[in-house]
Amino acid sequence: MSEIIVGIDLGTTNSLIGAMEAGFPILLADAAGERLVPSVVHFPKSGVPVVGRAALRMRAVEPESTVYSVKRFMGRRIGEEADDVAYKLAGKPGEPVRISIREREFAPEEIAALILAALKAEAERVLEQPISRAVITVPAYFNDAQRNATKKAGELAGLTVERIVNEPTAAALAYGLDRLKDRSKIAVYDFGGGTFDISILELNQGVFQVLATNGNTRLGGDDIDAAIVAHLAELAGVEPGPRLREVAIAAKHALSFAAETRVELPFLEDGRSFSHTLTRVELETLARPIVERTRQHCLRAFADARLAASELDDVILVGGQTRMPLIREFVRAIFSREPNVSQNPDEAVALGATIQAGILSGAVQNVVLLDVTPLSLGIETFGGLMNVIIPRNSTIPTKRGELFTNAVSGQRSMLIRVLQGEREMAKDNWELGKYALEFEPAPKNQARVGVQFAIDANGILHVLARDTKTGAEHVLAMTSAVDVSDEAVEKMLEDSLEHAFEDMNDRVFTEASLKANELLPAVTLALAQVGSALPEADRDTITRCAADVQAALAAGGAPGLKKAVAALDAATQHLAAILVEQAMRGASK
Ligand code: AMP
Repeated sequence: MSEIIVGIDLGTTNSLIGAMEAGFPILLADAAGERLVPSVVHFPKSGVPVVGRAALRMRAVEPESTVYSVKRFMGRRIGEEADDVAYKLAGKPGEPVRISIREREFAPEEIAALILAALKAEAERVLEQPISRAVITVPAYFNDAQRNATKKAGELAGLTVERIVNEPTAAALAYGLDRLKDRSKIAVYDFGGGTFDISILELNQGVFQVLATNGNTRLGGDDIDAAIVAHLAELAGVEPGPRLREVAIAAKHALSFAAETRVELPFLEDGRSFSHTLTRVELETLARPIVERTRQHCLRAFADARLAASELDDVILVGGQTRMPLIREFVRAIFSREPNVSQNPDEAVALGATIQAGILSGAVQNVVLLDVTPLSLGIETFGGLMNVIIPRNSTIPTKRGELFTNAVSGQRSMLIRVLQGEREMAKDNWELGKYALEFEPAPKNQARVGVQFAIDANGILHVLARDTKTGAEHVLAMTSAVDVSDEAVEKMLEDSLEHAFEDMNDRVFTEASLKANELLPAVTLALAQVGSALPEADRDTITRCAADVQAALAAGGAPGLKKAVAALDAATQHLAAILVEQAMRGASK
């Protein structure tokens, strides 16, 4: 029997673990018969940390020593993420987030490791064998640092992380496993506790290919909870706190099934009691702006997949928050169809992780998963331009390389800046890492540096630079990916659309000015050398065109410069021909 690989959905709110049994993905239940394990860790005054339901019960009692939603802090730095949690965060702005509990500090992945270790122990109890290998899911929009932190958490829990899978893709696997003969296009709308993802996939005879993905790792049910808490706090005239939050969440859940629910807050500090009938209409007014924020992500995914909503065969709902009728109504409107609710929204991701584990162990056959990378990757080239090497929404794993050369004679090294983002100019994208590759001084355009980008099946980037002359290679460490906050990702995509025209203008201008700066000295030199062979009128035209290029360079507009360069190029055709002719004559002498 091959060794079991478990599938784990490490969720913001709840986590689940599963394994393939007799060819079926099965989610494992704890001794109390529960499959959902709250992603909560409580640190008692003495003794070992408590995980899951027991920890959740301590959340309202000892909020400062009970960690929830730790997923929000994985791979993040202080300042990137709102610190509106009841436990203490430590660390300086710009440094990785640390969580401070009872005088001790933990990295978020250490806390996540405790959740994973608890899931692992449960699975070992149920399966009656040691477990050491796992597939873990992450939001599709997790960046390099967040994926690496998830992998680290698995390792700390004693698990070899065989694969990181994107959550909506996992959900699609769960949906599609019994439709392997079908050919269809589906969307997965995944609204969880802390994150939102939208993916569009094509299923074809067992091949699950992601066409596009989009999302926001800071948009989820938590935001709706916060809006309800603020509303109730105002009505009750109290400060928001853990107790109010608990009541707000219970009311939110109840309003998915009832038109109204009673909110009771007895024994407030001043001896008062508060009671209010919260209606679904009231909740929807609070939640609508939050749900509405998913629209732009859906529209971008359609555009990237080059599909209209009407071309989809199905839209699947994933994530506990999609039980909210308002979300179903919103999805119905945006996708022009009834959403598919055949999957349990809490369990689809874990089932998919388990299926992926089965694919890796050989327990599931004839299924292939082709995922994509959410953001473009490239390096900076001449003139501060972004040179995309792997465009966003490329199928992973992928490996692509390009050759770069030196812009200046005698240059001894080339600075390779690895960038992530959708803007045309390097300065507007994020730097993931940089390295100065040294080589022997060479005349202009002679040195050849090969840069290879590889994104592995986990969505993690590996960069290799090679001096093609000596074969010397260097593996670039990606050091700064943690600086990419999600708001920044979202802003980046918005900016890339908003500034598309200016960006293009900048790129055209930079390219034209690179050309102009090569052409102008060459023309001056050619005129000096062989200009006398041209009629005076032609010489005057060339001089006028060269002055126009100078003026256009100073003026800064891309269309003007492009036109001036083209005119100079045309005016110097004859001059160039004379130069070539003379050179040939010289060579044949
Ligand atoms: P997930 O991250 O997929 O576990 O989603 C958890 C989110 O779903 C949390 O914000 C929950 O409050 C929310 N949720 C769970 N059940 C319901 C429900 N019945 N109605 C509305 N939201 C729910």
